[in-house]
Amino acid sequence: MINVIEFFRNLPKKKCSHCGHDMLEKADCYGNLCDECDHPAR
Ligand SMILES: [Zn+2]
Repeated sequence: MINVIEFFRNLPKKKCSHCGHDMLEKADCYGNLCDECDHPAR
């Protein structure tokens, strides 16, 4: 059985492809943009 916390700790940190800020974990369907760059009003 996989330990979920260990699984996430082993993942590389995602960075926004636009501004380079570290991203919180999101579903892959959001792409590689952070909340700021992915904001619909921008
Ligand atoms: Zn960004």
